[in-house]
Amino acid sequence: MSQEKRKVKKDAWAAPKESPKFLWMSGNKVEWEKATVHASTLGWSAISMVFEGIRGYWNPEAEQLRIFQLDAHLERLMRSMKVMRMSSPWSVQELAADIVDLVRSNEFKEDVYIQPTAYFGETTPGYLAAKEQPGEIAVFNRAAASVLGAGNVISLGVSSWTRISDNVMPPRVKAITNYQNSRYVADESTRHGYDFGIILNQQGKVSEISYACIYIIRDGVAITPPVTAGILESITRDIVKGLLENELGIPVLERDVDRTELYIADEVFICGTGAEIQAAGSIDGYTVGDGGVGPIVSDLEQLFHDIVRGRNERFVDMSTEVY
Ligand code: PMP
Repeated sequence: MSQEKRKVKKDAWAAPKESPKFLWMSGNKVEWEKATVHASTLGWSAISMVFEGIRGYWNPEAEQLRIFQLDAHLERLMRSMKVMRMSSPWSVQELAADIVDLVRSNEFKEDVYIQPTAYFGETTPGYLAAKEQPGEIAVFNRAAASVLGAGNVISLGVSSWTRISDNVMPPRVKAITNYQNSRYVADESTRHGYDFGIILNQQGKVSEISYACIYIIRDGVAITPPVTAGILESITRDIVKGLLENELGIPVLERDVDRTELYIADEVFICGTGAEIQAAGSIDGYTVGDGGVGPIVSDLEQLFHDIVRGRNERFVDMSTEVY
């Protein structure tokens, strides 16, 4: 893979130098610099903290910013909060309206990332059993360029770390603490020269990527590990399933995936809000297909790109207009 391609990906996800004007904290829009919490809550509040990662896409021709799958992400946030026994003082509809207002106030005219974070505030220490206490919610919003259309081809490596499991740290819950598992994987894969690591679950089957889900394509059939394989119930994975089946005529199977199936697949791609859709050119040094973006992933990525930018009229309902 050329250095140029790697550069596109890494730069796109780098933290921006400038902070946005506002964030949203427990019902109020607050100036970035004034949104503080007490140092004594550091760490402990994160134990039971759950969050979402949402993307907004700027369409330069239409001068429109649209948030992709806002309600679906907020509904997943509510499910994560439920497992933490954290009730929400705000409904999905209230949060969605306030998030649109926040992004509008930050006046972004570029692709953005939005991160609602729910946690127990100072009155309910995050390490205690909570008994259905209400949580606090803070929403951060920053610029985050998309890699769609950049022709990225990534390298993957199977990690020596095992995925956390439902009866240990449930991956279905989007808990901040789960990301220590992802971080070990990302650290190892980076040191070994891969862009991302693939995590096997306790049964030795493929679960997901440190920050995304995975699909393989074999003989014209798309295959992805089931929601019981130790994955986050990914919104992009679901959208992609529908697009493959209904728009591209590619059957999709949700079933266990063996490690060696990765090596012999015709195409492999990762998908997620942050990762978007990116083709894998190699896995553990085995070339996938011809090492570039395969035909199915190419069609899928183009379709997905048009949809998220609001360029495909048939799918405008999948996103919420900011302006
Ligand atoms: N798995 C993990 C571990 C993730 O962090 C993400 C990104 N949120 C995904 C999968 C993809 O989920 P989604 O498509 O909902 O962003």
